[in-house]
Amino acid sequence: MFESNPLPVLWHFVHEWWFAYEIVLALFIVGALLERRWPVERLQSRTATRLNLAYSAVSTAIGRATQPLTAAASVWVVNLLGGGLIALPAHGWGVLVSILAVVLTIDLLEYWFHRLQHAWPLLWRMHSFHHSAESFNVTVTTRHYWFEALLKGCMMYPLVGVLFKVEPSIVGVATLIFLPGNFFAHLNLRIDLGRFITWVNNPQYHRLHHSRRTEHFDKNFTQLLPLWDRLFGTMWVPAPHEWPQTGLDDDAEPASVLVALYWPLRKRTAGEPAAVTQRAAE
Ligand SMILES: [Zn+2]
Ligand SMILES: [Zn+2]
Repeated sequence: MFESNPLPVLWHFVHEWWFAYEIVLALFIVGALLERRWPVERLQSRTATRLNLAYSAVSTAIGRATQPLTAAASVWVVNLLGGGLIALPAHGWGVLVSILAVVLTIDLLEYWFHRLQHAWPLLWRMHSFHHSAESFNVTVTTRHYWFEALLKGCMMYPLVGVLFKVEPSIVGVATLIFLPGNFFAHLNLRIDLGRFITWVNNPQYHRLHHSRRTEHFDKNFTQLLPLWDRLFGTMWVPAPHEWPQTGLDDDAEPASVLVALYWPLRKRTAGEPAAVTQRAAE
């Protein structure tokens, strides 16, 4: 696999991983500063936050290491289905139209994949790791089961390439819009957006998606634009006082990074299968 001297290859990998982690770290720091000033919950578990940070480091490394695989799968899917049905403008003001088209498409795909994660027990077993966080804060943003990123990378994101013939830089800019939006939505931040609450995903709107209250189950799926929840009938507009507790109804939480890594295969507690099936079926 390596040439005679593997160090340059290893150094390149470490450098790439560290750059990805630097961006995440910067967003964590900005988020934590905001959360300190205007928190919803003042006392949160430091152990859970430390676990999220450690898990984030490991899952970022897994994501980097598997990038060649997702890239190869993307090319295979696009070649199989025939790529670039619609050519998007790459110059002038048309670039803005292209960015908008890519953002809307990715957001719609994310919406439906998220709905499948709650509907299919196998996907829910992975996604329940994200929902198991009882301390809802910025570090939960990257607390997604590592295999989900692989699934999306190999099967969902290539669909953008099937649909559009588009400059990679435009896809890059579109992706950059999602990154801060996703961090913002997971903040432990008491922010009153008034009538703008359903314009873009935000800490109160997404907190309801993580709620332990049954009336909030399977609501507010969107990643960026609540427009999709409105269109497909899954919107719950939070009342000003609604800042519910988050987590799973059976209190399951990973005790360590190791447990997190095999979360869907973990030994279940006595009452857990019913809870998982019930939640997934609703
Ligand atoms: Zn969810
Ligand atoms: Zn979330």
